[in-house]
Amino acid sequence: MTRIAVFPGSFDPLTIGHCDILERALPLFEQIIVAIGHNSQKKYLFSLEQRLAFIEKTFEHEPKISVQHYTGLTINYCQKVGAQYLLRGVRSAADFEYERNISQMNYQVSDQKVDTVFLICQPAYTHISSTIVRELYAGGGNVGVFVPPAIIDLLQTR
Ligand code: ADP
Repeated sequence: MTRIAVFPGSFDPLTIGHCDILERALPLFEQIIVAIGHNSQKKYLFSLEQRLAFIEKTFEHEPKISVQHYTGLTINYCQKVGAQYLLRGVRSAADFEYERNISQMNYQVSDQKVDTVFLICQPAYTHISSTIVRELYAGGGNVGVFVPPAIIDLLQTR
């Protein structure tokens, strides 16, 4: 059976922390769908089109990774695309506590069982989050070291 994983998130914007998790997950799965969860009530700094473009551009040479977007429950989206795994990155104990509950709920409510695979981030990436990158960017700071090089040009066209 083809092992398909969904890597869900807001990716507002994609950071090198996300990229690290994706690159390390590549040997584990045949296909990874980076799935941008879109909530029309929520305010994002970058549009859905921009966030899709950041990921498409960064992984354009990696055939195993594709990018899509969805609304509604992540677990429903996994079932829709036939993914058996959810991929999540863990940076801290707080991330772990939160993710554990979601993972247990997702497993319980899924008809075709969906397991969550956690990768612990590398120590050098513990402090990197889309939230701090957004704040830095909004304040005119240089975010170049926190985002993949392929998207630096795209970030400037906001
Ligand atoms: P969400 O709002 O669902 O957490 P994000 O786009 O912030 O969406 O994150 C998507 C996934 O990437 C989450 O599993 C998150 O823990 C993980 N992640 C984010 N930043 C890092 C990082 N620096 N190192 C490892 N994983 C990360």
